[in-house]
Amino acid sequence: MGDPIDVRLDALSSGAPLRPEARRHTAVAPRNGRTFYLETFGCQMNFHDSEKVAGVLLSRGYQQVDSPDEADLVLYNTCSIREKAAQKVFSRLGHWRGGNAQRIIGVLGCVGQQEGEAIFERAPWVSLVCGSASYRKLPQLLAELEAGHRRVTGLDTDTEETFETEFTRRDHPFRAYLTIIEGCDKSCAYCVVPFTRGPERSRASDSILAEVRGLVELGYSEVQLLGQNVNAYRDPSPKRLSFAELLAAVAQVAGIRRVRFTTSHPRDFHPEIVQAIDAHPALCDHVHLPVQSGSTRVLSLMRREYTRDQYLERVACVRSAHRPISLTTDIIVGFPGETAQDFEETLTLLDEVQYDGAFSFKFSPRPNTAALALPETVPEEEKGRRLTVLQERQRTIQQRRNEALIGQTFEVLVDGRSRLEQWVGRTSSNRVVNFTTRRENLLGEYVQVRITRAGPHSLVGEQVIPS
Ligand code: SAM
Ligand code: SF4
Repeated sequence: MGDPIDVRLDALSSGAPLRPEARRHTAVAPRNGRTFYLETFGCQMNFHDSEKVAGVLLSRGYQQVDSPDEADLVLYNTCSIREKAAQKVFSRLGHWRGGNAQRIIGVLGCVGQQEGEAIFERAPWVSLVCGSASYRKLPQLLAELEAGHRRVTGLDTDTEETFETEFTRRDHPFRAYLTIIEGCDKSCAYCVVPFTRGPERSRASDSILAEVRGLVELGYSEVQLLGQNVNAYRDPSPKRLSFAELLAAVAQVAGIRRVRFTTSHPRDFHPEIVQAIDAHPALCDHVHLPVQSGSTRVLSLMRREYTRDQYLERVACVRSAHRPISLTTDIIVGFPGETAQDFEETLTLLDEVQYDGAFSFKFSPRPNTAALALPETVPEEEKGRRLTVLQERQRTIQQRRNEALIGQTFEVLVDGRSRLEQWVGRTSSNRVVNFTTRRENLLGEYVQVRITRAGPHSLVGEQVIPS
């Protein structure tokens, strides 16, 4: 999954009101006088988990506040994918050192799962530690806290259940996130996710489709299906829909205009997905396909289960679609054993694939991962140098690819205003477009925009107003 996260709250920060309907389902229970503050770190799945956690709290009568100092319950939904992300959480917890008996502090998500009860030793003022695989137990854990229990935990990963809530407090006014598969059964050598999020559990297709229909009723026309490895989706219901069939079914829900999905693992990326995109215009022109390295040798050390050539076959399949599909990726530099030659192969892969975007990271050794046993061979400084070289190469590619779009017209879903008094939105290919228009009140609308300028990370244009 693209990381750092791609949750754009421009519309919210620009003062755009939540849809009345979205407000309506935040007022689901009479207030109980208690308040909560929830801060989220990490990927889109964490942000969406937080939307569901907030839904659980609101349905118990809690009220959400903007500052931790005003809250009776302070929750951190945490990320441990890289060491820096995990450290941030402990610096937040440090703020509450000494504690306040009236305020409950909780650690949710990946750091909660990874550190478990050790958090109580490091920060004795914490009362709740809960990993994402135990979120279905949250109402019970909250009831225990409300009854005065001092320390409660949900750290079970041995589960076949998914976290489904009756109420979800959606933070993005125009794009709704839905988890279709939780956990991960892969064992990439660098990654904590299988440990922190547990085994793969797919949601029944009927439940997913019912949620999508509900979202249309709330006014959403764009949905994003989430999973660490969405294309490993296995419908547990008798319908047994494949991932491509599920995509087609979601795309055909009346009122849905855009369907996104992330993240796809190259190993499980089959031509049926591209065929579904070809057959259903509502499936967006974008595939996020993390490669991690361009060297087959490093891919094997990483236990990615594909070679460079097999990855390039998937890319060729995406490129064979009837419409241009934007391709983005994730890359790790400085994995243990990565030589200068291996890194060069990652650079040539960028040239060969011509990605429209790439999230790139320095390898960060993580607890409970196989890579921890490998001697680190790339010094920190060299990791930094490789990252800079890679980002510069990719920036040049993006600049060129975006310039090629000048003069073309794209449909943009408007989700905010930019600082320059322009409107901002995204194309189906997930490109950010800033544009001018003489019209007003465009939030949430689909408009046609002609591109006039291009940068490496966004486009600039003018709205085409039909005469
Ligand atoms: N499930 C997705 C996949 O298979 O590509 C990735 C999920 S992970 C949350 C997002 C990205 O973080 C990964 O694609 C990888 O590039 C990066 N990442 C994961 N573990 C890392 C580590 N130990 N050091 C640096 N980057 C890491
Ligand atoms: Fe981590 Fe690999 Fe699973 Fe992605 S597929 S979540 S990188 S173990």
